Amino acid sequence: MTRLTCYRCGATEADLDRKRCDCGEPLWFDAADAAAGFEWPESTPPADGSAPDAPAERGVWRYRDLLPVDSPGPNAGVVAAAGDTPLVRAARLDEDAGCRVWLKDERANPTGSFKDRGSAVGAARVAGADAAWLGTVSHGNMAVSVAATAAGVGASAVVLVPADVAPARLAAIAEYDPEILRVAGDYGALYRRTHEVDAPVTFLNSDAPLRVAGQKTTALEICEAFVRGAAGDGTSAPDAIVLPVSSGGHASGAWKALRELRRADLLGDDAPRLYLVQAGACDPIAAAFRADADEVTPLADPGETVAYSIANPDPPSGTRALAAARATGGAVVSVPDDEILDARSRLARDAGFAVEPSSATTLAGLRRLSASGELGAEEEVVAVLTGRGFGAASDGASPPDPETVDLAAVRDRIESLVAGT
Ligand SMILES: *Cc1c(COP(=O)(O)O)cnc(C)c1O
Ligand SMILES: [Zn+2]
Repeated sequence: MTRLTCYRCGATEADLDRKRCDCGEPLWFDAADAAAGFEWPESTPPADGSAPDAPAERGVWRYRDLLPVDSPGPNAGVVAAAGDTPLVRAARLDEDAGCRVWLKDERANPTGSFKDRGSAVGAARVAGADAAWLGTVSHGNMAVSVAATAAGVGASAVVLVPADVAPARLAAIAEYDPEILRVAGDYGALYRRTHEVDAPVTFLNSDAPLRVAGQKTTALEICEAFVRGAAGDGTSAPDAIVLPVSSGGHASGAWKALRELRRADLLGDDAPRLYLVQAGACDPIAAAFRADADEVTPLADPGETVAYSIANPDPPSGTRALAAARATGGAVVSVPDDEILDARSRLARDAGFAVEPSSATTLAGLRRLSASGELGAEEEVVAVLTGRGFGAASDGASPPDPETVDLAAVRDRIESLVAGT
């Protein structure tokens, strides 16, 4: 895969470090040729008892033919461990949800969220390089995931957090010993500025093309399980996939996966609809969907929500996520905090899945979608439980106290970090 492409205007880009198209939308890897010749990887071990053609690869690397970087091989530690998460039927939730419920348990990733899929593919790009640096702008699951993955490939990491980051988050991130910088100033503007610092640091932010490529494997696994007989009736894809959405990176990846499988002619006639769920207090993508708008407009004054991992008022891939829901015949809905908390306890009490509030938006969203007739009782629907959440810091160690840098000085500070001065 040697070029990037824009889903909206079709422009192509040979500079693989670019993140955005001139039209303003995020770029992703052009996998059209790879997808055209793609077949499901061999099951392991081969069903007929013969020796496999090639050694089996774990997790996201099962789909290496559709990924833009070479697999680092099966001995790559945490980078080999992302993906391959359980997909289970949870019939006890059917009546509540109004459809046949399947749960995709992304807590099973090494740091407890699907972010590890994208981090693994991003880190594979720098694995083995001398003095490589990974970076991210996050104080949540992405920060933890990038720090852990960098540690796994022997790269350094820099994590840019907001000045008022919660101590428990700092402790969770610091566990992997990245450089942490608190940044004073506009955190949204910081996100855009990191594109300027890319090289010497590979920033794996939410819409980085490498990250989106890795995160498409969630939907590849779901579809493979259904189409090849491990789930559902064993012949067709699920009717719908439901994802909590914030930046829109995961949803973009899921859409990309469906497009590639369709191109490979592996989905039959019925590709799943993508339903995206947001928290009512911060729902710019759902608002654009309701308004029938073509673009997502940033929210000037978002409210607070318990779903802390999906509260992005200015989602960098929001418009692409909106397009994904529309193009697949799905929708974007939002749910209030009381429904999220109720769904969260229902997932734990009736199915045994304790997840973070963001992930529970899926069940809250299912209820609304079936009540409005979008989903039928006989439909097979996969809710993606995206993450485990931040418990209390594991061993009571006191949180670190990283330095604070002004937004305007971030670039210089990172360059001196990388230079070791
Ligand atoms: C990041 C995250 C999301 C949202 O994913 P986006 O790619 O930002 O839309 C949802 N749930 C959890 C647990 C997350 O960490
Ligand atoms: Zn474009």
